[in-house]
Amino acid sequence: MSHQIDIEKVRADFPILSRKVNGHPLVYFDNAATSQTPKVVIDAIVEYYEQYNANIHRGVHSLSQEATDAYEQARETLRAHFNAAKKEEIIFTSGTTHGINLVANGFASQLKAGDEVIVSALEHHSNIVPWQMLCEKTGAQLKVIPMTNSGELAMDAFHELLSDKTKLVFVNHVSNALGTINPIETIISEAHKKGAAVLIDGAQAAPHIKADVQALDVDFYVVSGHKMCGPTGVGVLYGKEEWLIKLPPYQGGGEMIDQVTFEKTTYAGLPHKFEAGTPNICGGIAFGKAIEYLNGLGFENIAAYEHELLTYATEQLLAVGDVMIYGTSSEKTAVISFNIEGIHPYDIGTIIDKLGIAVRTGHHCAQPIMDYYKIPGTVRASFSFYNTKEEIDAFVQAVKRAKIMLS
Ligand code: PMP
Repeated sequence: MSHQIDIEKVRADFPILSRKVNGHPLVYFDNAATSQTPKVVIDAIVEYYEQYNANIHRGVHSLSQEATDAYEQARETLRAHFNAAKKEEIIFTSGTTHGINLVANGFASQLKAGDEVIVSALEHHSNIVPWQMLCEKTGAQLKVIPMTNSGELAMDAFHELLSDKTKLVFVNHVSNALGTINPIETIISEAHKKGAAVLIDGAQAAPHIKADVQALDVDFYVVSGHKMCGPTGVGVLYGKEEWLIKLPPYQGGGEMIDQVTFEKTTYAGLPHKFEAGTPNICGGIAFGKAIEYLNGLGFENIAAYEHELLTYATEQLLAVGDVMIYGTSSEKTAVISFNIEGIHPYDIGTIIDKLGIAVRTGHHCAQPIMDYYKIPGTVRASFSFYNTKEEIDAFVQAVKRAKIMLS
């Protein structure tokens, strides 16, 4: 796979990449937690607050109209990006966690005792806990697709778990802790054969892989803006229209109603039924700009370049010695989760931060994965299309130094 990423040009788009941290050039390898923000997105935020900050949808004045148009244009950008059939199927949320809770809350009306729902062992806590709460509420049973030593899903076990009792399956497209790309096409089609709906947590996939929700035939797909070069506090839930009509609203309030009387309230149509209250208007607009920016680079270019970084970093890191990498699937995004024998991940993270290198340490909100490997956590270096091989060299040197200091 070759790419057409002009790395110098790309890096110049991200003002933060030229700053120093602890006296060293910033090496930002915590992209799976939050990505950095290009100038076009920052400019869109400034322009919104300087030029047309106003509440949307009901205003008759010009500013309100401009803000409404920009916000709805962003919805259209997101629709086109994910290839949703209709704009009404794109619900703005505050992020992946919000999107999952919205669907889990809605399914309380769909499930009863004896029903089963299936999660995977590779999930982020935000794709576990809302469903446990749903099961407590409804009496449905939570089943878990186990993982293998390479950090992949045990698909044989998935097939055995599926039954006519299965009503819903929810798995991530890409694991945040390990980077494994899960076989969601198979999961979706097999679940559908049993009549079960499928929610895919796309938080970690969306920055690297362009999902086509119609081709996937997925029922729900959720993402966060801040992992896709957009701002925090905004995300999108894609839901098939038939499901969004069936599910009850998540929150009550302004924007989501048609008529309100003390006797009875009727709800607005889609997407507003799920968008109670004043939304993150600026965030939605900026998220749209981030999506345009990523598409300008091209997702195939992004994936090809990031794969080069992953291969290079894996080789260099293993050469340090005593390195254990968790998540060794051949299908993975540019994430390396590792430990060095006898050293706590937190200590490595702390030392390399002093050298300007940002990684994440800990359980990555995926404690069941850490329990599987019987470890307290890992060091996670997650790469983006604006990272370089030179940064990887600096990171590997820093890890070597940490190893010597801590051994
Ligand atoms: N799912 C996955 C796979 C994630 O990586 C994250 C963020 N780390 C989330 C869900 C939650 O996303 P947010 O905090 O933006 O709601």
